[in-house]
Amino acid sequence: MPNFRTLDDLGDVSGKVALVRVDLNVPMDEGSVADDTRIRAVAPTILELADAGAKVLLLAHFGRPKGQRSSTESLSLVQGGVEDVLGREVMFIPEVAGPIVEQAIGILRAGDIGVLENTRFWPGEEKNDPEFAKAVAANGDFYVNDAFSAAHRAHASTEGLAHLLPAYAGRAMEKELKALDAALGNPQTPVAAVVGGAKVSTKLAVLEHLVTKVQHLIIGGGMANTFLAARGVNVGKSLCEHDLAATAEAILDAADRAGCTVHLPYDVVVAKEFAANPPSLRTCNVHEVAEDEMILDVGPQAVEALGDVLKTCRTLVWNGPLGAFETPPFDTATVALAQTAAALTKEGSLVSVAGGGDTVAALNHAGVAADFTYVSTAGGAFLEWMEGKELPGVAALNI
Ligand code: ADP
Ligand code: MG
Repeated sequence: MPNFRTLDDLGDVSGKVALVRVDLNVPMDEGSVADDTRIRAVAPTILELADAGAKVLLLAHFGRPKGQRSSTESLSLVQGGVEDVLGREVMFIPEVAGPIVEQAIGILRAGDIGVLENTRFWPGEEKNDPEFAKAVAANGDFYVNDAFSAAHRAHASTEGLAHLLPAYAGRAMEKELKALDAALGNPQTPVAAVVGGAKVSTKLAVLEHLVTKVQHLIIGGGMANTFLAARGVNVGKSLCEHDLAATAEAILDAADRAGCTVHLPYDVVVAKEFAANPPSLRTCNVHEVAEDEMILDVGPQAVEALGDVLKTCRTLVWNGPLGAFETPPFDTATVALAQTAAALTKEGSLVSVAGGGDTVAALNHAGVAADFTYVSTAGGAFLEWMEGKELPGVAALNI
C-alpha cells in the first residue's frame, strides 16, 4: 500500500485554506442532482475539515467541457446538491485560481465551505500543466484528495497539486485504499477473483494481472463463452469473441504456470432468444448447447461449486456479473453467489471487495452491497487498479 498521510496527520488547520479534490460528477435531472451518492461519499472529509476550522474549497470536474466554459457544465448547478447533503451553506466561486478566489477566501470564515468552478473549464487541468497547477495551489495551504474515482487520471487537480502543497488522503480515499490493499495488496490467502461481464476484450489486462495474484479465478458472464470456445466447446450463438481464442489459451496457460485454478462453468442456462423468461429457457451441460441457443447465465451446479470454492477462501475480489443479470431469470447465478459471499463476509471468514458499474448494480439488485466488506463505485479507477496499474493520483500521495 502506498504510504500516505491522512487527516489524522494534519496539525491545527484553523483559518487555513484546504483545497479538497472531490468527485462531484453527479448525474443530473432537469437542473438538479439526481443521485447524490458521490456527494455523500465525500461529506465526512468536508465536514471534518470545516469543523476543525479550515476554509474548505472543493475542486472537482463535471462532465467533459474540454477546456472551455460551458453553462450546462458549471458546478454552480451542483452547489445546491452539496448544500443539501452537508446541511450547510456553501459558497459558489466561479473560478479555480486568481484574484476572485483570493477575494472569496477573504470573505469565507474559518469553517466555511466553497465550491470552485469545474476544473475542466481550463485546458491546463487535463494537460496537468504545471503553471495551471501552481496558480490553483497559490490560494491553498494544503491539499486533500478524496476522489479515488478520478485517481487514474494524471490531471492538475488529481496529481499536480499533490506535488505543490502538503498532500493528504481524505477519509473516502483512505477507506478505499485500505480496502483495496486488503483485497489484492496484502490479502489473506487463498484469494478468489470473480471476473464476469460481457467481453474478454474489455478485461484482458485484468485477467492477465489476476492470474498472477489469486489462487482461484472464477470466470463467468459472456467472457466465459470465449474461454469455453477456446477449449473447443460449441457455444452456439452465445456472445463470444472467437478471434480471442489464442489469447484465452495464453491466459489459461499463464494461470497454470502461476498455480491459479481457473473455474469455468460446467452447466449453463441457455435460451434461443434473449428475453425475460423465454419459453426456450433450459439448463444444460456446457457440452450440450445447441447451435441456435445462447448461454445467458452460469448453471445451478456450477454456482453451488463456486460457493464451495469461496468457503475455502479468505479474500474475494469481484468485477462483472456472472450472467445477463438485467433480464430475469439470468440474474440467478449472480444473486446466488453474491449472497454466499455476503453470508461468508458476515460470518467473518471472507474479506469481500467488489467494483464496476454493472457489478454495483447487480449487488444492489441482490440486496447484499451493504454486507460486502467494501464496494467501490469508482468505475475506471477500480478497473485500472484491478489491472495492477499504479494510479497517478494515488502515487502522488506517496510520502
Ligand atoms: P462492470 O460494469 O461491472 O465492469 P461489464 O460492463 O463488464 O461489468 O459487464 C456487464 C454486462 O455483461 C451486463 O450488461 C450483462 O448483461 C452482460 N453479460 C453478462 N453475462 C452475459 C452473457 N452470458 N451474455 C451476454 N451478456 C452478458
Ligand atoms: Mg459495465
